[in-house]
Parts: sequence; structure tokens; C-alpha cells
Amino acid sequence: MCGIFGYIGHRNAGKIAIDGLKKLEYRGYDSAGIAGLHNGKIYFNKVVGKVELLEKEYDLQGISLNPAIAHTRWATHGKPTVINAHPHFDSTHSLAIVHNGIIENYRDLKQELIAKGAVFTSDTDTEAVVRLLSDYLDQGYSPQKAMMATVETRPIWVWVHISISNPRKIHLARNGEARRYDDPFWL
Ligand code: GLU
Repeated sequence: MCGIFGYIGHRNAGKIAIDGLKKLEYRGYDSAGIAGLHNGKIYFNKVVGKVELLEKEYDLQGISLNPAIAHTRWATHGKPTVINAHPHFDSTHSLAIVHNGIIENYRDLKQELIAKGAVFTSDTDTEAVVRLLSDYLDQGYSPQKAMMATVETRPIWVWVHISISNPRKIHLARNGEARRYDDPFWL
């Protein structure tokens, strides 16, 4: 089972999110990743292997992210590769999502989204969530309504995302509910 950790607050969110992942390592995982905001852009890093490696790369980059979300993946759809590791993004790179669980019938959903022009870059089911969410946003849904519509389209379990358009929020959705957090939270 994977781990998700997100932080928004006054401290270095990237560091805290990575430290949070370390506490979740006991669950097992094959790859890890982080995304966060810095100067209005989403920065990210993904590695195959240990959180320690992710931390090294994050420290080398020297960019302080806030908010930040981080993920350890246990691959269910698509091999454990850097491309398939989370976070996943919409086409404009303005949403970054990490996800725990599987999306039933994601192949049908993927085909529907491809027919509408979506271009997938990974083999994961997770990418269908971010493409679907961004499709609802493109249709003019509010962030909250787009999240609800997404969880209603497919059982998804849980995802967390950040967006450039709401830089002071971390969004959390799980089956049946969608929330926004501007304080630290733990899943
Ligand atoms: N199904 C997703 C994937 O394969 C998430 C797996 C997980 O919960 O770590 O990427």
C-alpha cells in the first residue's frame, strides 16, 4: 500500500513531506515522488527506489516548495518506472496529483479521454484521474465540483493534488468527498 504525505504551512513543505514519507516507508513501495509550488510553478521529482534518493535529489535542487505533496508508489498499473511514479500532471502542468488505490475500468475511461484529445504519458490508471479532473475544469466546473464529478465518475479511493490556480491549498478527495486544506494534515 502506498503512502501520501502533504504539508502546507510556514515551514519547508518539501522537507516535511519527504520526512513524512519516511514514516510511511514500512508500508512498502517501489518508487517515490514529490511535487510542490515555488514562484507560481509546479516543481517535481520522481525516483525509482528509496525515499532517501528522492531526498538527496530534492536537497541538491535547493528549491523550497510550499505547499508540497509526496508519494510512495506500489505499482498496480504500469511498471515501476520514473515515468509511472507519481505525481502525474494535466497537459498544462498546472495540476499535480498523487493517488492511492486503483481505478476500475480505467481503460474505458482512458479511451474516452483520448477520444476527447487527452494525451497520456504514463501507463498508470492514476493519470486518468488528473486528465478527467482537468477535463471537468476545462468544462468550467469549480475546483470542488470538478473533484466531486471525478469521484462520482469512478471509484478512485484517495488522491491529493495541488494546483497553480489555488497555490495556498492542498486538495484531498476520496470516494464520496472532496476537501481543501490550508493547515497541516495527515492521511
Ligand atoms: N494504481 C496506482 C498506480 O499504479 C497507484 C498505486 C498505489 O496505490 O501506490 O500508479
